[in-house]
Amino acid sequence: MNRDTSSLLSAQELDILKWVQEGKTNKAIGEILGKSVWAIKYHMKNIMTSLGVTNRAHAVSQAIGRGLMQPSEPADDEPSQAKLKVGIVGCGKGGAAILEVLKENPMIYIAGIAENDPNARGLEVAQEMDIPIVTNHKKLVEIGLDVIINLTGSEAVEKEIRKIKPDHTELMGGLSAMLMWQLADERRKRYAEKEKVLREHETLYHLGTLIESIDSMNDAGYSLVDYATKLLNMPAGSMAIFDEKKEDMRLVASKGFSSKFDKINRWSLRKGGLTSTIFNQTTPYFLSDLKSLSNPNPLLIREGVRCVLATPLIVEGRIIGILYVNDFRPRNIRAEDISIFSLIAVYAGLTIERVKSIEDMRLLTIVDGLTGLYNHRHVMEELHKEFERASRHNTKFSVIMMDIDHFKQYNDNFGHLEGNRVLKEMSSLFVKTARVTDIVGRFGGEEFCILAPSLDKKNAVNFANRILKEVSSHKFPKRKVTLSGGVATFPEDGKGALDLIEKADQRLYEAKNKGRNRICS
Ligand code: GH3
Ligand code: MG
Ligand code: MG
Repeated sequence: MNRDTSSLLSAQELDILKWVQEGKTNKAIGEILGKSVWAIKYHMKNIMTSLGVTNRAHAVSQAIGRGLMQPSEPADDEPSQAKLKVGIVGCGKGGAAILEVLKENPMIYIAGIAENDPNARGLEVAQEMDIPIVTNHKKLVEIGLDVIINLTGSEAVEKEIRKIKPDHTELMGGLSAMLMWQLADERRKRYAEKEKVLREHETLYHLGTLIESIDSMNDAGYSLVDYATKLLNMPAGSMAIFDEKKEDMRLVASKGFSSKFDKINRWSLRKGGLTSTIFNQTTPYFLSDLKSLSNPNPLLIREGVRCVLATPLIVEGRIIGILYVNDFRPRNIRAEDISIFSLIAVYAGLTIERVKSIEDMRLLTIVDGLTGLYNHRHVMEELHKEFERASRHNTKFSVIMMDIDHFKQYNDNFGHLEGNRVLKEMSSLFVKTARVTDIVGRFGGEEFCILAPSLDKKNAVNFANRILKEVSSHKFPKRKVTLSGGVATFPEDGKGALDLIEKADQRLYEAKNKGRNRICS
């Protein structure tokens, strides 16, 4: 025996080998050393190369043989003689399942495996468990076993084993082996299912913490659709909210569809249509194949949608929207997935309600309640921004101040509420005439201010006159109403933002003095 092996293995390699001897897996050893499984596999490979062996069990016996380590003491409470010595023939899918189950049983000792396909599915598990592997079942029988489980399903193999096995070795084959591996496989599936449920719970928890920080409808839609499609393993999905006033649906987010679909902004409820059907129930609606309907939704058909799972989003008994997930092939889903989907729907309903009130509040702080135009504060904020922008880029912009003529008289004649109607109708005229980039605000009372980016003096005066014409030709409920206005333009009318307001205001009073219903600039 060659004893000159003191430098054959490093101290750490010897430690690793001792843990292997104790039956620890590479993963467990990795955890002790704070290294990855791959690092341990790499060390094991070096150890085996140094010892000239090809598997872990042989490495241990080689090391003992070379006097590098001591044989292990048999554990008192688990005398190995009392264990049932089992051999498995065939280590494919069934072998892997059985190994997983048998390894947990302290009364069973798997003495060897016979498998001639080097790619068989169970071989990696067998190697991890340090089970000796042979390529021929005859060699396995020679080990001397209590039980042989034949998983090959081959009658020829069965006959051969029966011929050469000693009398005391029991052979399990045919149906009994099949039953055994099916039970084992069932157990493996249950375990995989448990893992999946755990992952789903984690994801739902994550969604719960995420939605708390969402404060816009777009973000809410995007996140909810993203999580719903991922959790249900669907390639597409969307979310729409119900507009109670207009009685139609507005798409807030979609995923997995064509850009044509994403451009659909709104759709109305068709009697007997998909949206109405979903609205008429309080639980999720599931259709494994859209094509099974006599009159399927043409929009979804065009997108290639086959499977539809949708749920109404209900808060305090009111329907506020719909969440959809879709697949482009017909399919079924598990009952558990429907439960998960219902849970996401509850999250979605609460999130939409919360985000809606945040958005309403945000709008309230910048919008005038009576007219819906921007309020004084917001116009001033925008004025400063516009001033910055124009100074930086050396562009022009104009400020138009307007005031209703003899409005006190109108109020006195027809009452304050009739006056309010004028303010509202006039605001609509402003918005209709303005460009989308213009900021139209109610400055207070019957005074308005319009910020017109990139308009020079001449164009701003034309614009103001167009408004004047719109207003003077409009049929207000009681009588004709007119406006006066003043225009100031950056940069010629002021060095600061407030200078422009002041100039426009001065010119507005000039217009009043000159007889009203006119623009001064
Ligand atoms: P001028 O042509 O010189 O602008 O005359 P005017 O009567 O329009 O001007 P004045 O400033 O004397 O009166 C403004 C009136 O606008 C007084 C007030 O009753 C009315 N007013 C201000 N805010 C509101 C409002 O919110 N609703 C109604 N109905 N009237 C308002
Ligand atoms: Mg007035
Ligand atoms: Mg006034």
